Amino acid sequence: MYDILIIGAGPAGMGAAVYAARAGLWAAVIDQSPISGGQVLNTCEVDNYLGLMGETGGGLSEKFREHADRLGTVFITDEVKSVENQGGKKVVHGYEKDYEAKALILATGAAHAKLGVPGEEELSGMGVSYCATCDGAFFKNRTVAVIGGGDVAVEDAIFLAKICKKVYLIHRRGELRAAKSLQERLWEKENVEPVWDSEVIEICGSDAVEKVTVYNNKTQRQTGLAVDGIFIAVGVVPNTGLFKGLVEMDERGYIKAGEDCVTSCRGIYAAGDIRLKPMKQIITAVSDGANAVNSAQGFLA
Ligand code: NAP
Repeated sequence: MYDILIIGAGPAGMGAAVYAARAGLWAAVIDQSPISGGQVLNTCEVDNYLGLMGETGGGLSEKFREHADRLGTVFITDEVKSVENQGGKKVVHGYEKDYEAKALILATGAAHAKLGVPGEEELSGMGVSYCATCDGAFFKNRTVAVIGGGDVAVEDAIFLAKICKKVYLIHRRGELRAAKSLQERLWEKENVEPVWDSEVIEICGSDAVEKVTVYNNKTQRQTGLAVDGIFIAVGVVPNTGLFKGLVEMDERGYIKAGEDCVTSCRGIYAAGDIRLKPMKQIITAVSDGANAVNSAQGFLA
């Protein structure tokens, strides 16, 4: 039986792995993907991780993994089916096998939110994408639209502006919520055109994206923009479906836990983007990992 089993190998899981190893605990990280990193893998460039300015998302993830590997962390590749609390023992049922631990750290991160408009599902993979760094190269010298006004949307628009002929940034308000430093870099790009106060109402095309229809909520006018690709960056939803009934959550599925990462279930901790908290950043996810191990140590003692 492990002392701690960490579910998820993103920054929160990796932070927890390093602190668990340093505390001399028998710990393992379980993730469905053999490539560690989580959402960070979709990031082109990370400019705000202390000491590693300008690192790529992939590069940063590799460094995290290398650190945990060097401290002897056990990595398990398996998809978790369900999790059971048997008091002093927690059982994680995977598709390959079952795993037992005295304490659990949940660090499964978040996934892309959908827009929920006609054409999105049908044209997914045929011009509709949720990952600019993965799919941007398919749109070299073409025209694309990025939807959203947060950090991810602006990072995506900056990345795509280097590859594409033109990038529309369609946002439902007249002001972006992305970090000011990102906004400054965005407006240096001459081929980025903002489409303010506009909501996407339909994505059109027969076997590839051809057009996006937007509704301006100020003028109440509807227009069509000819585009070859659409990159949707309208936020995230926490990957907590597996933990329903196990720990308390809010109505959006975020796990209720404070800075100490303590959940409503004894011996189970929530770290990173799945935790209800105001600031979801790589650095705060890593810090959650450390705090979760600290809390788990108290419980294990
Ligand atoms: P976000 O900050 O929640 O922004 C989502 C954007 O999408 C907002 O501009 C929002 O509009 C818009 N939106 C939401 N639902 C929409 C809808 N149905 N239709 C149209 N627009 C919609 O999400 P994010 O950019 O994915 O970032 C997620 C978290 O990761 C954030 O906390 C972010 O700071 C963090 N992040 C951190 C780093 C890093 O640490 N380096 C990098 C990237 C992201 P409104 O503005 O009107 O609400």
